[in-house]
Amino acid sequence: MLARHHDPIAAIATAPGRGAVGIVRVSGRALQPFAQALLGRALQPRHAHYLPFAGDDGQPIDHGLALYFPAPHSYTGEDVLELQAHGGPVVLQLLLSRCLQVAAAGALAGLRLAEPGEFTQRAFLNDKLDLAQAEAVADLIDASTEAAARGASRSLAGAFSAEIHALLDALVHLRMLVEATLDFPEEEIDFLRKADAAGQLARLQQLLAGVLQRATQGALLREGIKVVIAGQPNAGKSSLLNALAGAELAIVTPIAGTTRDKVQQTIQIEGVPLHVIDTAGLREAGDEVERIGIERAWDEIAGADAVLFLHDLTRQHESDYASADRAIAATLQGTLPAGVPVIDVWNKSDAAPTPPPAAAPGHASIRLSALTGDGLDDLRRTLLQVAGWQAAPEGVYLARARHLQALHAVDAHLMEAAAQLHGSRQPALDLLAEELRLAQNALNGITGEFGADDLLGVIFSRFCIGK
Ligand code: GDP
Repeated sequence: MLARHHDPIAAIATAPGRGAVGIVRVSGRALQPFAQALLGRALQPRHAHYLPFAGDDGQPIDHGLALYFPAPHSYTGEDVLELQAHGGPVVLQLLLSRCLQVAAAGALAGLRLAEPGEFTQRAFLNDKLDLAQAEAVADLIDASTEAAARGASRSLAGAFSAEIHALLDALVHLRMLVEATLDFPEEEIDFLRKADAAGQLARLQQLLAGVLQRATQGALLREGIKVVIAGQPNAGKSSLLNALAGAELAIVTPIAGTTRDKVQQTIQIEGVPLHVIDTAGLREAGDEVERIGIERAWDEIAGADAVLFLHDLTRQHESDYASADRAIAATLQGTLPAGVPVIDVWNKSDAAPTPPPAAAPGHASIRLSALTGDGLDDLRRTLLQVAGWQAAPEGVYLARARHLQALHAVDAHLMEAAAQLHGSRQPALDLLAEELRLAQNALNGITGEFGADDLLGVIFSRFCIGK
């Protein structure tokens, strides 16, 4: 387990900079005498006291509110003291220094500055939050879209954790059955059959499939996907990015080869963040700068979750143009990992009444005009679809790539377990038991029970200070 520190900690809990209100937060054991020494009076639990915050010369640094939350009914599960002052960086720094000074004078032994995420880490160690909920605190703060914020809020309220616990309950039940059977090897098979171990395992797998599906949606809301726009110069890549983003981001010019480096913009469609990257036009490079730009374009393409391959519909009759498109298509196929979707986008439909050529096998195909916006909604819908977004089911919670990895590991162990149970040979009960045990370990890692210390350290260190 993570080292349990009990020394008291303090930090400025609000964002750096100026604001109407700023908060200094202290957490530790038995803070009452410290509060008395700092503020010159006893505080009633969970009451707002308006009072002066005196400096070392006895003169007030500021006037503000003091709140005292005795353990265990606080954010960290320890005693917590919150001082709400005016939100100036100097005022808050003075107040924090004053806390450390009063503590050092004997009112609170060992008070020190908190590490990033340390308040939330204590909440986790004191069982106020599990790990998935603690992560949701950071995700709520970092949420870049309203849907992501709502999802994080649901995770924080425990919606995701509740599903993990339901899976754990079912898994533990099955494990107990198998472990008990191990003790009575003579009757083992009958015993498992009577208790319908296979049925229990199948229901567990079904339950897991549902959680995995919802968590995948949640991870999508949090992480988004990387979409790269590729194509020949002047196909309209910058125009398309601007049209999707609704702003003039990339430089649009009629001179081929203008976008020499990548331009990235995060747009959202139904709350799903799409990190869209416009790349240099793909053609024989005219100079060194352009060559580097094209090289980078291919690097971006290789790391894309989806590619928009843009074609100029007005130039399809030019055999050189069409053959250059075919060459790019071939290189795309050689560059992209299997399973990365390519959407053929036939641009400038306003200027070309011709229908697009037949879609390449496996490619989605869309005809649109970046200029007039015609067909853009089609593209947005298709993007959501290739991203794997299923019409926003109410109540999506936020999940992280780490959670998905763990759920996939559980899935693999359950499949192994099923193979043991259903194999033509006599099931090897010890192997079956081992797979179930590993599945439970992976699940426990999500909520942080028996989590590895280094993993927990990494998760909390990414928080901001004061959280
Ligand atoms: P990029 O080099 O692929 O980024 O292409 P740009 O976005 O700079 O566009 C190249 C030229 O095509 C510009 O003159 C645009 O105004 C024009 N263009 C882009 N999209 C459309 C479209 O949908 N219809 C028409 N008629 N022209 C377009």
